[in-house]
Amino acid sequence: MQPFDFELKTRMVSGSDSILRVGELAAELGTKKAMVVTDKGIVAAGHVAIALESLQKQNIETVVFDGAHENPTTKDVDAGMEIARSFEPDLLIGLGGGSSMDCAKGVNFVYSCGGQMQDYWGVGKATKPMLPMIAIPTTAGTGSEMQSFALISDAETHVKMACGDKKASCRIAILDPKLTVTQPEAVTALTGIDAISHAVETWVTKKRNPVSLLYSREAWKLLATNFSTVLQQPDNVEARAAMQLGAAWAGLAIENSMLGASHALANPLTATYDTAHGQAVGLMLPHVVRFNGEQFDPWYRELLLSTAGVDGMPDPASGARGLADFLTSLVETAKLATQLSGCGVEKEKLPQLAEGAAKQWTGTFNPRDVDQESLLSVYESAW
Ligand SMILES: [Zn+2]
Repeated sequence: MQPFDFELKTRMVSGSDSILRVGELAAELGTKKAMVVTDKGIVAAGHVAIALESLQKQNIETVVFDGAHENPTTKDVDAGMEIARSFEPDLLIGLGGGSSMDCAKGVNFVYSCGGQMQDYWGVGKATKPMLPMIAIPTTAGTGSEMQSFALISDAETHVKMACGDKKASCRIAILDPKLTVTQPEAVTALTGIDAISHAVETWVTKKRNPVSLLYSREAWKLLATNFSTVLQQPDNVEARAAMQLGAAWAGLAIENSMLGASHALANPLTATYDTAHGQAVGLMLPHVVRFNGEQFDPWYRELLLSTAGVDGMPDPASGARGLADFLTSLVETAKLATQLSGCGVEKEKLPQLAEGAAKQWTGTFNPRDVDQESLLSVYESAW
């Protein structure tokens, strides 16, 4: 059995309208001044106003930083830091998608420990205790609410820096499925595919262990069987809740096993072509499953056993091939591209992209060893 070191760092509070409890939960943490990190879309959706009212009822002073962008960069963190320096919060609240939550964590690293974001690239770089943080996801995607990692891109080089430290884990995650109902359809599609890729990638990493497998399997069961439903019935709160919990479990799976080659292949696409993360990873995933399946087919069959007999799910005996075809069908259902040529990627750029993919830390956890040559072959199969 693979050894593990596991502690659940984050209290999970779930249920429709659980956002109304943010004030009470913040007060329990002894909060006097809360800084909400979010984006303008979330403010416009009205979620920030609800959180502020709940906080103010507990006599908690509040400030809002609504400058988190998709794929947040060091610029976003710097802008958030300006507000944090003058306001001096004792609690950070990441309210929004993965970008808002990661941006809040980024601000937390720099505010609590000094220096600049680049100093925290890697694992365990925090030098001081960090502010408590509450995460309130409005998408069912990254699972950042359950992780100690923040993904922040260097504004100059566009390199995605994974900055992780257990001290950066959220103290509380509020999972209110009603918040995810307001997502635009494209966001539901992109974040849902990303969460599914997290379940599948974590299931087979070199670091997989009894803890990560538990969370990967539950994530897969919830996400794979509810994704089409939330696309077809956006107001179905039960299916939204299943997706939200699935994404959170997948986040915990990442925390315990890391990711794999799909994310290594996706990152250069985002850096070069600005391809949305969910599109890039969803497009690459079926090809990575086929590639890994040549050596690890029994693992994929075992994953499919967990959803055997559920309407529309692949036969476990079909293994990596059946899983890859099923994943492609989900990407199509989400109205996303299934080929690189359909995303504006030039064929002659593939070697350069493969060079970038081979440098991605996340690729080192892929079950089958990857190098520039094998990653290029996966890109070619996806082109
Ligand atoms: Zn991802």
